[in-house]
Amino acid sequence: MSTIQDKQLTEILIEDLMISSEKVAHVQLNNPLEHALLVLVKSGYSAVPVLDASYKLAGTIGKTLILNEILGLERFEIEKLSEMQVHEVMNTDIPSISKQDTFMQGLKAVINYPFVCVSDDEGYFDGIITRRAILKQLKRDYYTSKNNQS
Ligand code: AMP
Repeated sequence: MSTIQDKQLTEILIEDLMISSEKVAHVQLNNPLEHALLVLVKSGYSAVPVLDASYKLAGTIGKTLILNEILGLERFEIEKLSEMQVHEVMNTDIPSISKQDTFMQGLKAVINYPFVCVSDDEGYFDGIITRRAILKQLKRDYYTSKNNQS
């Protein structure tokens, strides 16, 4: 079986580079905002996927979205953190990609996002592909092709 190091960029699929679902921090639709903020602050991530009870992808939620939501006219309305749930605030207008999509489709997807969720045909969450993973692979390919030319 060929490893990713042996592959040309054109042969690489999203599944070769993605972070699989069990390693991805996520929150659920009915979690209070307080829980989501805790996950975000403790993990250090700016946003994480939101899943429904059957582990289907529902959206993403980030620190900025939460802080904007609880920002009142003169103060942060901290009480909203326990009153509101993730589904009321999350971003549902998000792109997703499939495990079988190509490296180039991944590159296009992460131009506007630091990470893009990977899901299957039925919407079940498979993981995420990060801009970092795509750029690392691009850099590796650039230097490999350069060394092969000299
Ligand atoms: P990075 O490429 O590690 O800088 O990650 C970019 C963004 O992808 C982070 O800010 C998070 O929003 C998301 N991310 C990366 N890794 C994970 C993970 N293991 N769990 C949840 N979100 C992640």
